[in-house]
Amino acid sequence: TTTAALAVFDGTGRLKDGHLVPLLSNVGGAKDAVKAAAAGAQGVGLLRTEFCFLERDTEPTIAEQVEAYRGVFDAFPGKKVVVRTLDAGADKPLPFLTDASEPNPALGVRGYRTDFTSPGVLERQLEAIAQAADGTEAQVWVMAPMISTAEEAKHFAGLCAAAGLTTPGVMVEVPSAALTAASILEHVNFVSLGTNDLTQYAMAADRQLGPLAALNTPWQPAVLQLIRLTVAGSRDEGHDKPVGVCGEAAADPALAVVLVGLGVSTLSMTARALSAVAAVLASVTLPEAQQLAALALTAHSATDARRLVREKLPILN
Ligand code: PEP
Ligand code: MG
Repeated sequence: TTTAALAVFDGTGRLKDGHLVPLLSNVGGAKDAVKAAAAGAQGVGLLRTEFCFLERDTEPTIAEQVEAYRGVFDAFPGKKVVVRTLDAGADKPLPFLTDASEPNPALGVRGYRTDFTSPGVLERQLEAIAQAADGTEAQVWVMAPMISTAEEAKHFAGLCAAAGLTTPGVMVEVPSAALTAASILEHVNFVSLGTNDLTQYAMAADRQLGPLAALNTPWQPAVLQLIRLTVAGSRDEGHDKPVGVCGEAAADPALAVVLVGLGVSTLSMTARALSAVAAVLASVTLPEAQQLAALALTAHSATDARRLVREKLPILN
């Protein structure tokens, strides 16, 4: 059962050769955070703050936000918690931020872009995150969703600095961000690959449409290439900044091996997936993961990439 499987995960992700891969959890609020901590997550790689306020039709006050975020921080004393600023729009509309009349919501004003049309909301959220972080033991990092350009990353980093938040990062979930990761990382400390949206935008296939599911997989060669390029960008120009993954890709044990082989340093997933991912990672060395990543990159289809890698992982057969 899931509970039995969770019990075997000792809370540290590492490969067979001891190479550490911190395994973090994706959470939507304090309740999830408590469960994730109990399941052994080493921190939070994605706090989806919009989930705290889905039912609201007005902007939550700073005090309400502080309370929501602090509940998450308190579940992870001494651990990293990556807070994502509101990702309103498309599949996660928030009445106080989202224009319901947009013809193409996935290509519309969503995520960081709401700062163009609702100025002030992002600054107030950063202020709330800073207040909530003050006086907790969690190491609070903050990141923006739906960043498309280095200028946006720079602007976000400036807002974070003004709020006293010292570890800004951005999500890489738009192909333009993957292709310009090196210049984005001149302005922020880390990036986190949101493979759900990165896949949707690379394949031009709505992530919510069942008939497009075969296109919408992060095993697609184009998506693997975008991940590879993001890591390459993170090592460009003398910097070596962390690249995490917080999309569903991290919860697929075979793909988790490929991601680590491609140079991703942390994986964040639903708490339910932690033990299965930890078990498969523990079955390979770093050179083996790198070979499997290289093998996946040779495939001409998502199906082939997945099959080739899974065949080489005895623990999955
Ligand atoms: C993603 O797009 O992969 C991601 C982690 O963000 P969300 O699923 O919340 O859009
Ligand atoms: Mg996303």
